[in-house]
Amino acid sequence: MSERVVIVGYGMAGSRLAAELHARDGDRKVTVLGAEPHRAYNRIMLSTLLAGKIAEPDVELAEVAGQGVDVRTGVAVTAIDRANRVVRTDDGDGHRYDHLVLATGSRALVPPLPGLDPLPERVVPFRTLDDCRRILAAAQGARSALVLGGGLLGLEAARGLAARGLAVTVVHATGWLMERQLDPAAGAVLAGTLEGLGVRTVLAVPATGVAADGSGVRLDLADGRSLTADLLVLSCGVRPDTTLAAAAGLAVERGVVVDDRMRTSDRRISAIGDCVQHDGTLTGLVAPAWAQARVLAQVLTGDDPLARYRPRPVVTRLKAAGIDLAAMGDAVDGPAPDGPPVEELTFADPARGTYARLRIRDERLTGAILLGDNPAVGTVVQLFDRGAPVPADRRSLLLGRAFGTVPAAPAASPALMPDAATVCQCNDVSKGALVACWRSGARTVEALSGATRAGTGCGGCRDALAGIVDWLAGAEPAEATR
Ligand SMILES: Cc1cc2nc3c(=O)[nH]c(=O)nc-3n(C[C@H](O)[C@H](O)[C@H](O)COP(=O)(O)OP(=O)(O)OC[C@H]3O[C@@H](n4cnc5c(N)ncnc54)[C@H](O)[C@@H]3O)c2cc1C
Repeated sequence: MSERVVIVGYGMAGSRLAAELHARDGDRKVTVLGAEPHRAYNRIMLSTLLAGKIAEPDVELAEVAGQGVDVRTGVAVTAIDRANRVVRTDDGDGHRYDHLVLATGSRALVPPLPGLDPLPERVVPFRTLDDCRRILAAAQGARSALVLGGGLLGLEAARGLAARGLAVTVVHATGWLMERQLDPAAGAVLAGTLEGLGVRTVLAVPATGVAADGSGVRLDLADGRSLTADLLVLSCGVRPDTTLAAAAGLAVERGVVVDDRMRTSDRRISAIGDCVQHDGTLTGLVAPAWAQARVLAQVLTGDDPLARYRPRPVVTRLKAAGIDLAAMGDAVDGPAPDGPPVEELTFADPARGTYARLRIRDERLTGAILLGDNPAVGTVVQLFDRGAPVPADRRSLLLGRAFGTVPAAPAASPALMPDAATVCQCNDVSKGALVACWRSGARTVEALSGATRAGTGCGGCRDALAGIVDWLAGAEPAEATR
């Protein structure tokens, strides 16, 4: 009898695992059970959808149903019966498994404030396509919006709503924006940039309560002020959805505990994506979720029984029109307690919305913040990602341009990128892999993207992909086909 694999969660991790299994040979029946009523979609692109830059069909992920993959949407798993290897669903059904995969993702946190239980109509978290639809419906005809939470997603939502013409105010309890990725100086420059784009920020003050009715929302603050608007978006963080795993008695800490092969404490159950805790760490990003899906597919199919998940350095980018921001590594950490001394370089030009900070240890970048137009951003990300040595004169990285006799960092030139350089962070696709696909006939961005999946995550590498296509198309035949 063929092996039965049941995947709980038809989000970015679950759908990728189904596609990875589908692409490999073997006698197995894959069932995907997804609580959301839609086909799997690219959750990352909801910010871009909110900003009106794309339409709903653009966020749909490739269909995986058919040929051994059975996808059920609008079906929530309510319990795991480990003894009988069955999952129960809210439509009264049961699904037997030989191997079960939890890909249940995260849930948006709703802060325990008076006035938020139940959630009023004009108050919406920002996690799902339905949330996005509700925010857009509330924004229709609205003139103002409040966003509670000045982290990455809150700012993306705020920028998106401002782009739709709403007057937006972001309220953040900490003294500066995106405090997990930015230092106070970068946060201040970012607040200035946002102000110029129609987003006001109210910092260092917690919210104490919400009152909402059909005509609008009032947000009360700890300093006695009250802000009013037509809608309120909650962006107060996410929490791994571990409900099922915990109820089934699996090892759960902050997330579902997994090893390098994505196995939980039950050898017949694996977990991937936002819901997992690997080596004490939660990720909350798509690149690790997709890397975990690949490793698990290799392990489950026997393609590579020795496959192991190895976390890679994370680069955070803000997807908001008019703001260029990349942050990575330990840029916000204090002095390192031991080991080689840390070299810190900063450059700030708040009037131009520019800020750069590099942290270098042992001639390697351990962290960086680049805000504003800095052409060296590609080079900085590459150096950080590969742990490669930084140039002797760091000013070209910090300033992103030629400085005196120091040449500009060779950011944009694909010709100068090493083959090992990662072009698509979400799918871990290197320049070398793209060149190999070109040689085998993929001659457009779409063809390269179809062959390697590069550019199908956050889309931040699509300009780099186009640059590589242009370079290969214009390169000497010997160079392009070498
Ligand atoms: C607006 C926004 C922007 C983002 N931008 C970025 C970005 O730029 N870069 C980045 O790397 N990451 C970004 N993220 C995070 C990224 O989307 C997540 O890391 C990614 O979606 C994780 O995939 P997942 O499959 O683990 O979880 P999800 O995509 O959340 O999918 C989990 C699915 O499981 C379903 N589920 C849960 N419980 C059950 C159950 N009991 N039965 C059936 N189904 C169940 C849920 O309904 C959901 O559909 C962003 C997230 C949001 C919301």
